[in-house]
Amino acid sequence: MQITIALTKGRILQETLPLLAAAGLEPLENISKSRKLIFPTNRQGVRLLILRGVDVPTYVQHGAADMGVAGKDTLLEQPGDNVYEPLDLEIARCRLMTAGIKGAELPRGRIKVATKFVQSAKRYYAAQGRQADIIKLYGAMELAPLMELADEIVDIVDTGNTLKANGLEARDTIAQISSRLIVNKASMKMKYQPINALIEKLSAAVNKQ
Ligand code: AMP
Repeated sequence: MQITIALTKGRILQETLPLLAAAGLEPLENISKSRKLIFPTNRQGVRLLILRGVDVPTYVQHGAADMGVAGKDTLLEQPGDNVYEPLDLEIARCRLMTAGIKGAELPRGRIKVATKFVQSAKRYYAAQGRQADIIKLYGAMELAPLMELADEIVDIVDTGNTLKANGLEARDTIAQISSRLIVNKASMKMKYQPINALIEKLSAAVNKQ
């Protein structure tokens, strides 16, 4: 039986590989050093896919991957009805926050908010009862307030150094973020035994880390 697990390069991969190894699963070559996108593992029938982070939920939603590891920030943007989220891997922790120019007050009335996290931003400002025009960006959100494109941004904050280096301040926390294991619902049913065994081993590895 084939099991396909979708991962992303970078921080999530670096922190997920030790958990997979603790669960007895190792890629047969060094993923970081390869340009390949599909990697066999030491367990026959189990392979790893390397995707862009935003594409992991899409692959799992459609069953093109059985399981995946995705940041909660990504999952909040695209909640899938075909996907379970059985395990918080407690890695790649950060916060989704609002931020703006240090000391600057928000204008009254409608504000402009630049972000990659459109759905989370919409929900947050609606819950605050604030009228916000959301401007979608794909990177370098910190620039938007400086260039007067936006009054606030919604972005990922870890140490806060990136905001600080650009004269911005973190304001409200919208969500605590970490990486989650996601599983396609049909795969969970049809491949219950191997998938559940893997979830249990990963869960044990998370509790030990
Ligand atoms: P920092 O300067 O430590 O607050 O890090 C902020 C930047 O690092 C953000 O703009 C994000 O792009 C990136 N970053 C930090 N932690 C994470 C994470 N866990 N997941 C994704 N991106 C992150």
